[in-house]
Amino acid sequence: MTLPSPQAPFSAERPLRVLVIGSGPSGIFCAEALIKQAEVPVDLDVLDRLPTPYGLVRYGVAPDHLKIKSVTAGFERTLSDPRVRFLGNVEFGSELSYDEARTHYDALIYTFGAAADRRLGIPGEDLTGSLSATEFVAWYNGHPDAAARELLLHAAGVAVVGVGNVALDVSRILSKTRAELHDSDIAPHALDALEHSPVQDVWVLGRRGAAQAKFTTKELREFGELEGADVLVQPQEIALSEAEEAAISDNIVKKNVEVLQGFAGRAPGGKPRRVHLRFLVSPTEILGDEQGRVAGLKIERNRLDEAGNARGTGEFEVLPVQMVLRSVGYRGVAIAGVPFDERRGVIPNEGGRVSGRSGEYTAGWIKRGPSGVIGTNKADAAESVRTLLEDVRAGNLTPAPQSGRAAVDALLSAKGAEVVTLEDWMALDAFEREQGAATGRPRAKVTQKGHMLEVIRRVRGARQTGNG
Ligand code: NAP
Repeated sequence: MTLPSPQAPFSAERPLRVLVIGSGPSGIFCAEALIKQAEVPVDLDVLDRLPTPYGLVRYGVAPDHLKIKSVTAGFERTLSDPRVRFLGNVEFGSELSYDEARTHYDALIYTFGAAADRRLGIPGEDLTGSLSATEFVAWYNGHPDAAARELLLHAAGVAVVGVGNVALDVSRILSKTRAELHDSDIAPHALDALEHSPVQDVWVLGRRGAAQAKFTTKELREFGELEGADVLVQPQEIALSEAEEAAISDNIVKKNVEVLQGFAGRAPGGKPRRVHLRFLVSPTEILGDEQGRVAGLKIERNRLDEAGNARGTGEFEVLPVQMVLRSVGYRGVAIAGVPFDERRGVIPNEGGRVSGRSGEYTAGWIKRGPSGVIGTNKADAAESVRTLLEDVRAGNLTPAPQSGRAAVDALLSAKGAEVVTLEDWMALDAFEREQGAATGRPRAKVTQKGHMLEVIRRVRGARQTGNG
């Protein structure tokens, strides 16, 4: 089908060439929306700096929540479409610069998510043993940037600051037994380290009340089912007046409060580990020992003011922890040449069109901030693609001077990039599944980039000699 507008320069012979930067959910949903529309013929490259696609589905979603990861079957179908290529192991900004991208593509869509974390801004945050949940999640999920990092896991006490779903993920992973983690796709090094960790107490700290927690009920309930850990809630910290309870209109909040009340009424079961879900407390200082390691966390009791904000009461307590994980939200990181709103940590945009740019769009967490579940990105990506198509229709997209896959391939090859294709990734995926199956696990992740490329080269070699 051709475009209704006479200015429209794109056709089956000269399709609209789009570069999607980032192959996480928002990037793949953009690709899906582009191939599902019938208005403009398209040809897409989906770029990722890692050899592996799917972003936070592989490196963020908790390893024991495998069902959530089944979304990748649909993602693979999108990447398998003949109009789409996966270009893995290619860094935007160096192996493909902004200027080069503008020369080779009619439109760019930035979907590189929110790679960094927010800080607490309290003394002691840089002590050894104080880190972001983001780093910890990347470590247990086998992210190549984090996998080699020696993590301090000789902590008997761990504080997790924040009460969102990420805080619950890291607390649950810290509290599960090896047997409970066996059927997950947690990275092998983390499975071993966690089995031998001396963790006994995990404190999860909400600065406001139970009714203001951000986590969802399914995730909360899992704490009542842990084999090796009791969940402890102090009744006075979740107490609500009848009027406060009656005022809760959100169903998730209502259920959260019910589950927490159930936990508060439980007697400890004498399990080796304990997860303390605490509310109305804020960390004020991370205390260190002489070697600069975390030795405690000072917290202050809060009350809620009329606007629902936490206010300190001047009553303090010290938790005996040797590790502090701040889980207070992700934060987007700027990339050179792309507009960035430092305060909000996002690319400024209107409906997905990058402010002040033509032919540049954004979707996902780097567009709207780190909120929502995987599915939230589908509608968000659809909006950005609609905006892009409006621009095509209006004749606002200037065709790139050197379009075509061959020109991009030649450029990447000249720059020495070792591009990982979808076929390569599928070979690595199969290898990980086989390695996992050998020990009855769903997958044994390869966690180092060099090792991933070795596996891929071996399979490519076998394919070429007809043995693959
Ligand atoms: P989040 O849901 O925004 O939670 C952040 C938490 O940090 C809130 O409890 C917040 O409290 C607290 N916080 C912020 N600043 C703080 C400070 N200075 N001191 C103490 N506490 C502070 O973020 P997230 O947990 O990183 O999750 C990100 C997104 O991914 C969310 O949409 C989440 O639902 C999603 N996710 C979903 C799943 C799942 O579906 N299973 C799993 C993981 C993540 P206030 O409310 O008081 O600000």
